[in-house]
Amino acid sequence: MTRIDLHSHSSVSDGTDTPAEVVEHAVAAGLDVLALTDHDTVGGIGEAAKHLPSGFTLVPGMELSCAYAGSSVHLVCYLFDPADPGLDGELRRVRSDRASRAEEMVRKLREHGVAVTWERVLEIAGAGHPEYADANTIGRPHLARAIVEAGAARDVQDAFDRWIGSGGPAYASRYAIDPVRAVELVRAAGGVCSLAHPARAEGSLNGAVPLELVERMAAVGLGAIEADHPSHNRAQTRYWHGVAGDLGVAVTGSSDDHGTLTGRRLGCRTTDPEAFERLVAPATGAPLLRG
Ligand code: AMP
Ligand code: MN
Ligand code: MN
Ligand code: MN
Repeated sequence: MTRIDLHSHSSVSDGTDTPAEVVEHAVAAGLDVLALTDHDTVGGIGEAAKHLPSGFTLVPGMELSCAYAGSSVHLVCYLFDPADPGLDGELRRVRSDRASRAEEMVRKLREHGVAVTWERVLEIAGAGHPEYADANTIGRPHLARAIVEAGAARDVQDAFDRWIGSGGPAYASRYAIDPVRAVELVRAAGGVCSLAHPARAEGSLNGAVPLELVERMAAVGLGAIEADHPSHNRAQTRYWHGVAGDLGVAVTGSSDDHGTLTGRRLGCRTTDPEAFERLVAPATGAPLLRG
């Protein structure tokens, strides 16, 4: 049975393993197919592609930050053309705003007496891969690690709870794309996408992506819903399987591995091979990368 995991992060965004290490762990976890989906960047795909053992398939991808009604909505996107001007322009804007927003959070933390520095946050975010400087994404997990180092939180989770979770004293919002427009952009770039962890939209929506939004995304070409995600409980998993069935889109299952940040968990959720084939069939923007 082909084992397929369609959502993972490397140190090019907020994971802790380099792209090469992510592939290595995926192989060790018995996976045959892995999508590397760093936040708002394909900066790690080239390195990952150099480390594929024979018989292993890499799906080039990313997790696109979208926002709706004050909540973050994530879209895992695959096989799009990374040079597409419309999509690339948005990604550059998102990444650059991530950096200014992180600086703003550092300012807020310092106002609250937390001794983090921008230099240290950059070091953590860039650790191990300075060559991708332009394509890196800075995220709150990097800040969280700096907060822990500064002694103002016990661990990353505690740093989110105390300081930088949505609505926290040092939280700052950032630019993100409208989810319907995001699906249109990815489809126009020849890619396909799945709605990531729909029961976990951080912010004012109180958890779940609203059905009316998912319907509008499906109408413009959303290919799947990531109903199988380690953050979903049984009821949520069942509910989102039902939504996917009602809307006639595929179900994906993925680990959303972030290395030691989430605990290594590649392959803890997988995607049915038929669902995978159905999801990627319309993609024209980039090829699957085979070892
Ligand atoms: P950002 O992309 O900068 O908005 O940060 C969001 C990222 O932080 C997510 O992709 C997760 O990796 C991580 N994250 C979100 N909420 C939490 C939390 N409560 N505890 C630990 N990590 C979190
Ligand atoms: Mn993340
Ligand atoms: Mn996400
Ligand atoms: Mn993710």
